[in-house]
Amino acid sequence: MTPTPTVTLNTGASMPIVGLGTWRADAGKVAEAVKAAISAGYRQIDGAYCYQNEDEVGDGIHTMIGQGVVKREELFIVSKLWCTLHQKSMVKGACQKTLCDLRLDYLDLYLIHSPMCFQPGENLFPFGEDGQVIAGDSNFLDTWEAMEELVDAGLVKAIGVSNFNKDQIESILNKPGLKYKPANNQVECHPYLTQEKLINYCHSKGISVTGYSPLGSPDRPWAKPGEPSLLEDPKIKAIAVKHNKTTAQILIRFQIQRNVIVIPKSATPSRIKENFQVLDFKLSPADMKVILGFNRNWRGFAMEWGNKHKDFPLHAEY
Ligand code: NDP
Repeated sequence: MTPTPTVTLNTGASMPIVGLGTWRADAGKVAEAVKAAISAGYRQIDGAYCYQNEDEVGDGIHTMIGQGVVKREELFIVSKLWCTLHQKSMVKGACQKTLCDLRLDYLDLYLIHSPMCFQPGENLFPFGEDGQVIAGDSNFLDTWEAMEELVDAGLVKAIGVSNFNKDQIESILNKPGLKYKPANNQVECHPYLTQEKLINYCHSKGISVTGYSPLGSPDRPWAKPGEPSLLEDPKIKAIAVKHNKTTAQILIRFQIQRNVIVIPKSATPSRIKENFQVLDFKLSPADMKVILGFNRNWRGFAMEWGNKHKDFPLHAEY
């Protein structure tokens, strides 16, 4: 099987440019999705504690390792520290819980899921009566120090962030005593939210970018009728017809050509395969320009419930 193209992280590690997303992959289907993905050639799996399915992701991984399809060191496994677990004293335990669920000794990349710290506790989304998330009292610079300790302890090979804006990344880079720079920032990214400024900034600092919801997250539970649909967009469909590809394949290929790591989620084996068949064609510079022109700064993940949090990332321009 041809190896997937990779992006070189600032740690020197190679991160496969296409990975499988696992959010909202229903219980009972995730292990099958992971197995289908590894069979199709995926070598990166994107997960998170808050998706509440890491044990099943682990089942899928171990089945494929057990069958000799792949070795652990050929896989690139990503997880994320949830927002209720930002306190320095909680970070190692949170990472160990993920490793235990996945039944792995190390993660290839561990991200702070969001700059916003939530009130610790069983409830993953502690909301107040005003509908806003209840903030915890940690700050992400302290959390970052605990993340650095995970690298030193050998639990993770690389650390990064997710949903961070430029200023928030800058404050990590400028932190006195910084030991490790973030290797990756995972943010929403697709043709309606092209993120050109944030991507250019991250790349200029040697920080790779992963684009989440590359297909526009059509199954997000809060989707409202009338919201734009990337998969149904006639202009993107027209580009797909021209290349004899599907709309999803165009959306994925678009990110690869910008050197953005891309993690489409599917729990449907035929789509999992389809989403990986993106390495045998090229969008022309003119196609890329047209697609970039579709930007409308639209977010599937506007996170309004956090917009009063001191570390809400989306007030900034980028
Ligand atoms: P995506 O944009 O990947 O869309 C997933 C949806 O598209 C599913 O409903 C899936 O259906 C459908 N789909 C997949 N492939 C195709 C296809 N070829 N044709 C038609 N429909 C298709 O959304 P996500 O929001 O899930 O984002 C991807 C991943 O990014 C997540 O799973 C997660 O790992 C990560 N993420 C990270 C976040 C963060 O805060 N860091 C936030 C959100 C996502 P089906 O499964 O039924 O096939």
